[in-house]
Amino acid sequence: MDDTRFLPRQALQTLLDALHRQGYRTLGPVVQDAVVQYLDIDSIDRLPSGWTDDQAPGRYRLSRVDSPRCFAWATGAQALKPHLFHAREVLWNTRRDDAGKLVFGEQEPDVRRLAVIGVRACDLAALELQDRHFLHAIKDPYYGAKRQGLFVVAVHCAYSADTCFCASTGDGPRATHGFDLALSELDDGYLVETGSDRGRAIATQLPLQSATSTQVHEAAAAITEAANRQFRQLPSTHLRDVLFDRLQHPRWEEVAARCLACGNCTSVCPTCFCHAEHDDAALGGSTSQHLREWDSCFSEGHAYLHGFNVRPDTHQRYRQWMTHKLGSWHDQYGRSGCVGCGRCITWCPVGIDITEEANAICTADVPQGESP
Ligand code: SF4
Ligand code: SF4
Repeated sequence: MDDTRFLPRQALQTLLDALHRQGYRTLGPVVQDAVVQYLDIDSIDRLPSGWTDDQAPGRYRLSRVDSPRCFAWATGAQALKPHLFHAREVLWNTRRDDAGKLVFGEQEPDVRRLAVIGVRACDLAALELQDRHFLHAIKDPYYGAKRQGLFVVAVHCAYSADTCFCASTGDGPRATHGFDLALSELDDGYLVETGSDRGRAIATQLPLQSATSTQVHEAAAAITEAANRQFRQLPSTHLRDVLFDRLQHPRWEEVAARCLACGNCTSVCPTCFCHAEHDDAALGGSTSQHLREWDSCFSEGHAYLHGFNVRPDTHQRYRQWMTHKLGSWHDQYGRSGCVGCGRCITWCPVGIDITEEANAICTADVPQGESP
């Protein structure tokens, strides 16, 4: 990374303006429907200045704080996933020509440039994991086109919610790579780091000043404090083998008794990529669209294979989710699929906590009578 520079608070608008001049659509955090969401912004006035969040298992609330800061909250309900891997996407379309023959039409990938401001370290780590799947494993052209046009402005976390545990997965709260620019927020402005040639090109258009050692120290201390504030953590052991040794653990049934199989956890998870494909035909039968839509370990259809449901019970679906996320991701993508963002804990309507469940299954002694 290059030398850190300082950008006065109101000059953040020059970053948006520079990105617009380069042809980027710009998304930033905005408070809408009582949650922080990435929406289109042309002005820094839309940023959530003076807002913070209060998160707990099954709970998300925003509240006002007496602060000029725009990034004094931890995470919104969604990371970058919906902007690169759309919840519903047309892959191709079909129509009948005048002779009644089927004609297949290609859906062109979306190549528009997109800049996202305010990306957290955990969400950058999730982006890297989605890259491993969509870019390298399945070489998806739709994701690839959007990913190529993505400009990331990260913000190091100076605040952790009670559900965050990125320090335990090694993915935060400081963003270390994968960004074009990274900001550390101070009361009067931002420290700016560059992480790519594109970021350096944009930085030349900003009224940057030399950062003082006091500013650099204050920003670093805030990130350390955010890490220290986290009290949840996954078991430190290598979870893959332990989880697969404990497939008959009674805790799977216990958590299933509480789990609604609603799929919220997989919808908000920034690394979950499971999807279903189906054809949506017009009533007259003259046209149809082939769609890809988000699916979930928890949906009945996702477990339906060749006329047989391979995971009819909730405990099997929860087990599938956790053993894939924390276990077989290591085989497929070289690391755990969890980046510690805590969203699945916050947005679970009954407050099921992946760290609590993983610790109950992996660190406690196996009850007598079980055969791990
Ligand atoms: S499993 Fe939960 S904490 Fe981990 S990345 Fe997904 S939503 Fe975040
Ligand atoms: S763990 Fe929570 S969010 Fe996930 S399916 Fe069960 S009830 Fe829904």
